[in-house]
Amino acid sequence: MSDCIFCKIINKNVPTEFIYEDDKIVIFRDINPKASTHLLILPKKHIVSVKDLEDDDRDVVSDLLFRARDIAREKNLSGYKLVFNVGRDGGQIIDHLHMHLLSDTKMQEV
Ligand code: 5GP
Ligand code: ZN
Repeated sequence: MSDCIFCKIINKNVPTEFIYEDDKIVIFRDINPKASTHLLILPKKHIVSVKDLEDDDRDVVSDLLFRARDIAREKNLSGYKLVFNVGRDGGQIIDHLHMHLLSDTKMQEV
């Protein structure tokens, strides 16, 4: 999607430091962090949101979760939150599927 900011970041048209990258997933820091660690974990494939997932995308969802586990282990995070905002009414601003990983020394209850 040519007008998608996250596709532009993935395609390196918008310079952003990647915390992790492989052929399917990228991880980078949120530009407006809501916690001392606030990462965005997303598939390179342009999927708009959880609502738009297709049955063939099961591996994508699995990859996001396992990458979150691995990056949290690497960073020795003792606890964290994984959040998907889904649709405008769910607080989603960027229409490219992404999972927030948020961690602070003291996390607030949702
Ligand atoms: P959403 O509300 O769609 O779940 O979250 C989108 C997140 O992307 C927001 O937390 C916002 O701060 C972050 N964001 C938006 N534009 C950019 C950008 O250009 N670079 C980075 N690193 N994060 C962005
Ligand atoms: Zn995109």
